[in-house]
Amino acid sequence: MGSTLLEKVWDLHTVRRLPTGQTQLLVGLHLVHEVTSPQAFDMLRLRGQAVAFPDRTFATVDHIVPTDGQPRPFADQMAEQMMAALERNCREFGVPLFGLDSDDQGIVHVIGPELGLTQPGMTIACGDSHTSTHGAFGAVAFGIGTSQVRDVLASQCLAMDPLKVRRVAIGGALAPGVYAKDVILAVIRALGVQGGAGFAYEYAGPVVERMTMDERMTLCNMSIEGGARAGYVNPDDTTVAYLRGRRFAPAGDAFDRAAAWWRSLASDPDAVYHDEVSIDGAALGPMVTWGTSPGQSVEVGGRVPRPSDVAEAERSALADALAYMGLQPGSPIAGTKVDVAFIGSCTNGRLSDLREAARIVRGRRISTHVRGLVVPGSKRVREAAERDGLHEVFRDAGFEWREAGCSMCLAMNPDRLEGRELCASSSNRNFKGRQGSPTGRTLLMSPAMVAAAAIAGEVTDVRSLLPAAEAS
Ligand code: SF4
Repeated sequence: MGSTLLEKVWDLHTVRRLPTGQTQLLVGLHLVHEVTSPQAFDMLRLRGQAVAFPDRTFATVDHIVPTDGQPRPFADQMAEQMMAALERNCREFGVPLFGLDSDDQGIVHVIGPELGLTQPGMTIACGDSHTSTHGAFGAVAFGIGTSQVRDVLASQCLAMDPLKVRRVAIGGALAPGVYAKDVILAVIRALGVQGGAGFAYEYAGPVVERMTMDERMTLCNMSIEGGARAGYVNPDDTTVAYLRGRRFAPAGDAFDRAAAWWRSLASDPDAVYHDEVSIDGAALGPMVTWGTSPGQSVEVGGRVPRPSDVAEAERSALADALAYMGLQPGSPIAGTKVDVAFIGSCTNGRLSDLREAARIVRGRRISTHVRGLVVPGSKRVREAAERDGLHEVFRDAGFEWREAGCSMCLAMNPDRLEGRELCASSSNRNFKGRQGSPTGRTLLMSPAMVAAAAIAGEVTDVRSLLPAAEAS
């Protein structure tokens, strides 16, 4: 009987089985950012401990960074304190930091892959829910809390509950205007926001095999929104080609040896899964969330559900979400007026996302009542986008072109919604108040759909803005 990638990587990193039934797992790569690390470093300092493996630990700043070029010290004192604490901690504990003065600064889940730190077969931990992103490379990657950040800093190990594996196969081929973001929103809608509890999701099937690494990262990024502890894609030629020549990837003969080993980690053809699910990719359309959880979504041509459309037990959550969102049961989601358009985040702030959004925007203007922000996921993404001239495309259309950071994905920096504003967002969470205002509203969708919404001033089907030959 064969093994899944998860089983292979898990076994390779197992230090011992704990009496609790958990596994003491060695963490190959620990990524650190400014929000969840200050207390963890303080706890180490109190105990007189060092960072066990500073060469397996890398830090960056992303959540609190103002993206409007604000100089230090930041106007927000709390942000300045977090920034200064990370700088001090990295200096004192010998942890490399990609700070604001580094050309490699950016969102932690964007820079790890970009630098080649993220590699197949690794276990990767970070004090951030969306660490599942790194699973796109065939790594086993999960978000951890602050006390676990302390544990990993001090011991490079974690006590982990065993995980089951669900194979999520996406069949067929995606139509033009349908992207990885639509696939993962459809997966979460089908399996539920808690459906992945206790599981790692292995994404497979023809659609996933054809995806670029950027698309696979979008898919894995939102695994956590479906309740899965991790999500991954088996390493293949696409993975190997992406990593070749990256700064922290092996070089020369060592790369070829590593590539052969990476491929050997893919789940065996006769691997046994705890569960298997198939979704027809060809049947998917562009998705939009209508509620306050990423599972509450509908295709752009669809309607917001009525109470009679859902099970009795779900009716009160439906009513609550619709009241918060100000949407009428049974109304079409297309045509919902949008105040803000945000393109960015660790889900969809990569170069290919910006290119696709720019393709929609080029030669058009965003609606006069829409505030549009484009925020690259890293300085390298920003630099590459500017080499392509994308910044001019976005600016000419009326978007603001910002510095790299998490920005409006969550409100830990000055980029926030005001009052009841409704935001078309390429990020990953539409929870109440997520984007800063306690009454602000978020509709999740692909970056191309955000671009389309910005132009129309309302939710609209991006396929109507694609060149006719493509859309047909
Ligand atoms: S972009 Fe959003 S989800 Fe991603 S790391 Fe930043 S705050 Fe977290």
